[in-house]
Amino acid sequence: MIFQSLTRSCEIGANSYRLDVEGVTLVLDAGMHPGQDGEAALPDLSYLPPGEADAILLTHAHLDHLGSLPIIMRQQERAPVFMTETTGALADAMLHNSVNVMGHKVHQGSLKSAFFDHREIDAQRKRWDYRRTNEPFTVPGHGHVTLEFFDSGHVAGSAGVLIEAGGKRIFYTGDVHFEDQTVSRAADFPDDLGIDIMIVETTRGASPRAENYTRDREIQNLADAMCGAIERGGSVLMPVFALGKTQEMLIVLHELKSRGILSDADVHIGGLATKVTQIFDRHRLRTRRHYSDMKILGDTDVVVSSKKRSNHFSYEPGNIYALSSGMMTEKTVSNRFAHHFLDNPRNAILFVGYSSPDSPAARILSGERDDLITLDANLAPIELKCDVQRFDFSGHAPRDDIADFVERMAPPTVLLVHGDVEATAWFDTTLSARLPDSTIITPKPGERIEL
Ligand SMILES: [Zn+2]
Ligand SMILES: [Zn+2]
Repeated sequence: MIFQSLTRSCEIGANSYRLDVEGVTLVLDAGMHPGQDGEAALPDLSYLPPGEADAILLTHAHLDHLGSLPIIMRQQERAPVFMTETTGALADAMLHNSVNVMGHKVHQGSLKSAFFDHREIDAQRKRWDYRRTNEPFTVPGHGHVTLEFFDSGHVAGSAGVLIEAGGKRIFYTGDVHFEDQTVSRAADFPDDLGIDIMIVETTRGASPRAENYTRDREIQNLADAMCGAIERGGSVLMPVFALGKTQEMLIVLHELKSRGILSDADVHIGGLATKVTQIFDRHRLRTRRHYSDMKILGDTDVVVSSKKRSNHFSYEPGNIYALSSGMMTEKTVSNRFAHHFLDNPRNAILFVGYSSPDSPAARILSGERDDLITLDANLAPIELKCDVQRFDFSGHAPRDDIADFVERMAPPTVLLVHGDVEATAWFDTTLSARLPDSTIITPKPGERIEL
């Protein structure tokens, strides 16, 4: 058995892994790096020559797992793509949106040509093969390799995958959360998987959760920060991922409003977030989630404007703007909006999700008041005057929860993926101490690891 990471460096970027097991080549995820353009944004596909893959497995529809799927599918003509049905609906929306984003970039000259177009995605969907969680299936033509998805509690449709072949059981967690979020319920990974090799995400390895953390207290702190901005006569900008964090935060706001908190504030979402929220609503009975009886758009009075087409929001005081992207990547709605927002001391920008160290969001978070912040290299920097706060509503399990899970499963081999260098280093040290008989490996990009 051979495992090979197709990522270009040890980070959360274009997640994609090649696994050769019992003569069958599997591709785990097909991500695109959110902070890179052109070839650098893709996994290193030189390790995956055309036609070699027998199947592609997609754990969920975030772009760092999905964004290069059309390119990999184009090169791997035989390979079906397995995913849950909800991931399929979300992936369709995310990829079509990527085509639009690439179109803008080509127009502005930052990208030479788009990697794929709407028509190619529509044609490829015929090879998407939806599978339920907790129902084993085999790779077509290779009945000796069994696959099974398990709900990973990260975002709607997300799943870890168990691969069984040649008497070995390999488990890839994908992105995972072991606690309930406001909408998503905790991962549903069985305790008796008997895993030989675990491929585990390490997102939060370098950022321990605050002591005394409770989600309720975090929600209260968020509410206080929002009320403060609105009482000062300002507004709130919450940069959020369109998929997952937007819906979680909308239900948090719904709960706050039903308690009489923030009842006068209007909430605005737009663009991709609106489309994704509609899919959440349509799939609410097909996913394990809380509030499955409630449509976010329709049964709550949270959202006053959900602009589908327009991505331009005019600033008004007293509002909450939950805009994507969460890392405030250049040319996205939250990045553009911040140009007219950061320099107003009445406002508050409240971060509720992950931001990679090289993102505009990270530049704001590490900035001091009155600093000049470059949000977009092509535009003038903005003075940072508004309140900046960060809250922990991560869709990823805290590092101790993941370490506990790995220790409980005690697999003889652990592969650490989906984390920055410091994050994987913490897991390496921690798991080496807690599982002295196991081999803990941080795969280097492109390295062929024989297992
Ligand atoms: Zn994710
Ligand atoms: Zn991810």
